[in-house]
Parts: sequence; structure tokens; C-alpha cells
Amino acid sequence: MSTEEPPVPELFEEVIGQPRAVAQLRAAARRPVHAYLLHGPSGSGKRAAARGLAAALLCPQGGCGVCNTCRRALAGTHPDLVLVERTGAALSVADAQTIVTRAQRRPFEASRQVLMVADVHLARDSIPALLKTVEEPPPSTVFVLLADDLPPTLATVVSRCLQVPFDAVPVAAVVAWLVDHGVDPEHAGTVARASGGSLDRARLLVSDDGFVARQHQWRSVPTRLDGTGAAAAAVSSELLAAADDALAPLRQQHAEELLALADQADAVGAKGVPGRKQVEEGHKRQERRWRTDDLRFGLATLAEVYRDRLVAAVEADDGSHSSGSAAGGRRAVRRAEAIDEASAALSRNPNESLLMDALMVELSGMLD
Ligand SMILES: [Zn+2]
Repeated sequence: MSTEEPPVPELFEEVIGQPRAVAQLRAAARRPVHAYLLHGPSGSGKRAAARGLAAALLCPQGGCGVCNTCRRALAGTHPDLVLVERTGAALSVADAQTIVTRAQRRPFEASRQVLMVADVHLARDSIPALLKTVEEPPPSTVFVLLADDLPPTLATVVSRCLQVPFDAVPVAAVVAWLVDHGVDPEHAGTVARASGGSLDRARLLVSDDGFVARQHQWRSVPTRLDGTGAAAAAVSSELLAAADDALAPLRQQHAEELLALADQADAVGAKGVPGRKQVEEGHKRQERRWRTDDLRFGLATLAEVYRDRLVAAVEADDGSHSSGSAAGGRRAVRRAEAIDEASAALSRNPNESLLMDALMVELSGMLD
């Protein structure tokens, strides 16, 4: 427990499970630099952290957390906190031009302005323009760049900024956050383990009615496999169909995002959304990743069922070393291992239905 830190929890209270980043931001706010780069996986709290940092930089008291300036900065409504979001799939040259123009503007109220730029990892052609303005901003402009990862092309930009790394949010922190928001602790635990350390994903899963149903479906697999190939094939295709259904909330979000882009385009009289195809490709990539994560979590749930059986077999063994329970234990170990292997294979972009069919056949005991 540090006693030197001033008690300003209000600035970063929405940043969950990132003590290292928060400590770094607090120190950085006391000695401001002209450019910060907050980087880490999506859903790890970078935007909330950037708003907290902006409050510290704009507030006349250095981030009291309670004044009007702090409150508006934290809400993202302060006129000297400017958020620049990409208008298409990548952070384009036109977006960089917007950033350069905004950077030259004088602050409205505060002694400086904070220019927050989202998705800097998606900058390509715009990197030279971005680099130039980040290198030499007007003295009253502070950059807070946000990136999900740091591609090598970004190296020069990265080197001009104070870097603040974010990690995936630890499961325990996601659980605590969900429980704080009124989610039942048991459900919170399941959602947190499936969230992959992303609060955004946890937020979507918690309101996804299908999530609990999918959990039951995975847990019931061993009782549904009756040793026939027909049952194995049926279970495999149902699980894959359920993984498709799992995408519904994300697809909904993506559809809304496209609608908003279309409205924006309408408002400026553009013919269609600029870079629509790339936006859609980005959505597809995210949906594939989400689907793989969902399958992987389902497989982990299933492996847990077999590990529970192993524990039961060991307990039933009870020193009598009956051959039945020992064989059952060995089988459960083999099944759990086969599931872990299938889960690892998912990252190698396999034919999913072949992979799942083969796994279900193996779990059916047809190969024993
Ligand atoms: Zn304040």
C-alpha cells in the first residue's frame, strides 16, 4: 500500500483491473508530456483511462475528480477533450488531416486541449502526417493515442509517445465488476471466464440469453453421445450451429455501427459510406475471432465435465483400487486431453466441422 499517492480514485474508477497502467497514468499526469500512447487489447479500459487522464490534464487542480471540468472530462463532454475516430475502416489521410487541424486549434476553456485519437493501430497511409503532428504539436495540445496493438509500421509514432500498456482484464476483476453491476455472482463467474478479459465482451455476454443455454448444451454433451456415429455427428453440428447463434449480439452491434456510418455519410452528402467494404471486412474478422473464442470456451466447459468425472472416479476408488473406476479415470483423462488438443487446433484455422466431428467420435468411445 503506497501512502504517497494522493487520493483521487474518481479519475480512474472506471478502469478495471489495470493497477499498473493507473499508477503510471497518475504519475504521468503530475508531469505532463505532449503525447501518450495507451495500448492493449480491446475492452481493457483504454478509453475510460484516457478520459481520466484528460480530467487530470484539464482540471485547474490537476484532477480533483469532483469539479465541473473533471466531471465533463470524465463524461467525455468537455470542449477541450476532443475525440477523433476514424471515418472508415482505417485511420485515413483525411482523418489525419482532421487531427492536424484540431491540434492547431486553441483550447476553449482550459490551459490546454487533449486530443484523443482512437484506433491508431489502424493507421497506414496516414502515419507520416500523424507522426509529424505528434512530434511537434502546438504547446497547448496533448495527444492521447489509443491502439489495440502496436504493428511495426507504427514504431516511429510509438517512439515519440509515453507508452502506457494495458493487459486483458483479469477474470477476478471482471467478476467483481459484473457483481458490482448487479449480476448474480455465479453467472458473473461464467461470463468473466468467457470474456477473454474484455469488459466489452462481458457486457455483451451478460445480456445474451443464449449464453446460458449454450453452456448447458456443452455440459450435456457426454450424456448425449451414445456411442453411435449418428449421435456424434448430430451433437457436432448442433454445437457449431450454436456458435453461429452466439454471434447475434455482435452482429447486431456491427449493423448499428454501419447504420451510424451511413447516417454520417448522408449528413455530409457522401455517396455511401467511405471504405464500407473494409469496415465490413473488419467486422467479419472480429466475428470469426469471437466465434473461435466461443468454441474454445465451450470446449473448456466440456473438458471440465470430464475432469469432474476423473475427480469422481478417484474419490470412488477409495483405496479399493477397483479396476472399473481406475479405467473410468483413465478414460476421463484421455477425453479431457483430446478436448484440449482440439481447442489448441482451433488457432490453426482448421476445418471446424471435421475437427468437431472427429472430437465427438473420440468422446463417444468409438475408438476405445
Ligand atoms: Zn477537477
